[in-house]
Amino acid sequence: MRDTTAGGGVFGNREYRHLFAAQVVALAGTGLATVALGLLAYELAGARAGAVLGTALAIKMVAYVTIAPIAGACADRLPRRGFLVGLDLVRAAVVLALPFVTEIWQVYLLIFVLQSASAAFTPTFQAVLPDILPDEKQYTRALSASSLASSMETLLSPLLAAVLLGVFSFHWLFGGTAAGFLVSALLVVTSRVPRAKPNERTGVLDRIASGTRIFLATPRLRAVLALDLAVAGAGAVVMVNTVNYVHDVLGLADAEVAILLAANGAGTIVVALALPKVLDRLAERTVMTAGALVLCAGVAGALGLSLVDGSWAPSLVVWALLGAGAALVLTPVGRVLRRSTAESDRPAVFAAQFSLSHACWLLSYPIAGWGVTAFGFTAGWVALGVLAAGGTVAAFALWPRHDPEVLTHVHFDVPAEHVADAERTADGGWRHAHAFTIDALHRRWPDTAAVPAR
Ligand SMILES: [Zn+2]
Repeated sequence: MRDTTAGGGVFGNREYRHLFAAQVVALAGTGLATVALGLLAYELAGARAGAVLGTALAIKMVAYVTIAPIAGACADRLPRRGFLVGLDLVRAAVVLALPFVTEIWQVYLLIFVLQSASAAFTPTFQAVLPDILPDEKQYTRALSASSLASSMETLLSPLLAAVLLGVFSFHWLFGGTAAGFLVSALLVVTSRVPRAKPNERTGVLDRIASGTRIFLATPRLRAVLALDLAVAGAGAVVMVNTVNYVHDVLGLADAEVAILLAANGAGTIVVALALPKVLDRLAERTVMTAGALVLCAGVAGALGLSLVDGSWAPSLVVWALLGAGAALVLTPVGRVLRRSTAESDRPAVFAAQFSLSHACWLLSYPIAGWGVTAFGFTAGWVALGVLAAGGTVAAFALWPRHDPEVLTHVHFDVPAEHVADAERTADGGWRHAHAFTIDALHRRWPDTAAVPAR
């Protein structure tokens, strides 16, 4: 997967290879630890699986939404290698503390600490990338690979846990996970991470907000946000409801839970592998909105299955569709973010995508967990279907069909060197055209209807 999604050249860089491996190992460990913690909570409380898992995943998303932007904003003020190693050690310590846990609240507290460390790791890691990969193309590939890895963690860790739990007891899983974090720390220690060059923005709050502001001011990024909602709405069916669906609706056992999650993971992986070639020929808008339609079809299929009390073979197809649709939407996100931002704003915008997409999951997990537990599969999945369909419709509406990089626009109050190539307009402005991104000189998206291209 790495070579096709990230391009060959990036992995020739030793520092990047080590850091990326550290991120992937730590992501896999965090995913496994989350599932294992959910099972421990289940063992302690004897509560229903859906509610416990819904709570655990909601805590995860709260940590991601609150911690990640703060870490992203502070990342270039800390000794970054030490910080990354510390985050691995915190996570290893959390996992090693688990045998001593006796109360359910302790489990939820540990999930919060674990996920906070994980949420801080990814933006810090991404902030390091431009310093070890000065070539802009390589940096962008690396950033895309990293954000893809963290999306895939959300999609694939239940599958990985289901497979491993089929082989090991979850107490062994804890040991393996702690070892994984130590390996990740070792990989960071053995790489050279240069000290940060602070950028020109000073206030931390300003920097937290800047990524989101660019996101909300750029039409195609608003569409990405709507697509995040579609992914979260449809994905929660798989993440939260698979266990109960297999047991309560299909009347099958844990082995079939693993198989159904594997069907979903297979859909994701196949698409993620095939997509880089497809993206050379098709526009991102086409691929990503098609993915959203696949997600809607998947939720509709799940809804149909809930009405006929389930059926095994169609369930496999529906779960694979849900995996494929998510990959169609998420794989090109890195390219879209890259195309939509100036180089210096990329870390802020990737951090914003990280937080905003997790905020969408924060909306869908409670519906899938508590909503389905209280009102049943059909009602809960209708609500998730509304999220998915709403996100899809919004994405079609928000993303202009004609979406060129170069836009003609008019300036009124900018430094003379920026408008050196411009021509005067009747109302005293300067009109010119160039590859357009929201930045300090371009705070609003130009109204292309009012400024006809020449
Ligand atoms: Zn301009």
